[in-house]
Amino acid sequence: MLKKLSLSFVALIIFNTPIYAETFDYKLEPKKVSENVWCFLGVLEGPSKTNAGAMVNSCYVKTSDSFVLIDSGPSYQYASQAYEAMSKIAKLPVHTVITTHEHDDHWLGNSFYKEKFNAKIVGPKTINEHYKDGDKTRMFNLLPANAIKDTKIIKVDITPDKTLNMTIGGEDFEMIPIGEKAHTDEDFFIYMPKRKVLFAGDLAMNGRITSNRHGSLLGQLKAIKMMKSKDYEVFVPGHGLNTSKTGMDDAEQYFTLLYERILKALEDEVDTDEITSVITMDEFKDRAMFKALNARNVSEAFTEIEFSED
Ligand SMILES: [Zn+2]
Repeated sequence: MLKKLSLSFVALIIFNTPIYAETFDYKLEPKKVSENVWCFLGVLEGPSKTNAGAMVNSCYVKTSDSFVLIDSGPSYQYASQAYEAMSKIAKLPVHTVITTHEHDDHWLGNSFYKEKFNAKIVGPKTINEHYKDGDKTRMFNLLPANAIKDTKIIKVDITPDKTLNMTIGGEDFEMIPIGEKAHTDEDFFIYMPKRKVLFAGDLAMNGRITSNRHGSLLGQLKAIKMMKSKDYEVFVPGHGLNTSKTGMDDAEQYFTLLYERILKALEDEVDTDEITSVITMDEFKDRAMFKALNARNVSEAFTEIEFSED
């Protein structure tokens, strides 16, 4: 009896072992946001075992001879499944992957495009400076094993330090650096002048609260001003579902109000430990992730402005 029991126990362990688990199915569906432009739009949550990092936006631009990627997503498997879905729209290789910033939910898919197409990776030098092969970054720790498997950290090939203009298969791209710390130490947005499409990376999110934990309020305000100076009809945030002309409104209002309120609080000599009860940003209460992220954004931005004032 005992022998029987332990045998079935062994069998139970074997059949539940992750090695036998199938690859995570991201169920990715491209959404056409403009002529020749499709995006996979992520859910309005933080990365988790359930969403496997599909909480980020990753976009494909179809050109005459290849696809150009704007952010490749959180894992090799995500990228592989995104490519499979796009192959039903056009059978084209991926020669160029543009990465907006160093947060790994935006670029761990690069390893798929490098392996399959030897694609050229264009992005911030901060990826090469802060990450190396074998590092267990945020996605490696948060994603299920059957989603993160085969993912590798690979280097960025081209790291522009000023605006990079590219024409690829008849499509024009401007890759524009902010030039100071904004969402991270080094951020780019991508503008397609002929199509009037702007990809903001995480310089703007909508429908959810931004995470400014590696960022700067002043840098964000500068980035918003720079993006606003472009004539766009389609605005793709790094996270968020609104890709229309109003796609930047959430971010612009949030950072502008936050800045005004911090200046007022400094004038009123509000203490650091009181700041999150004085500046509550109630207008944004209904946005996803408000509870998780807002108070920290407020207190860190307050400290930043307090010490930047002369
Ligand atoms: Zn980010």
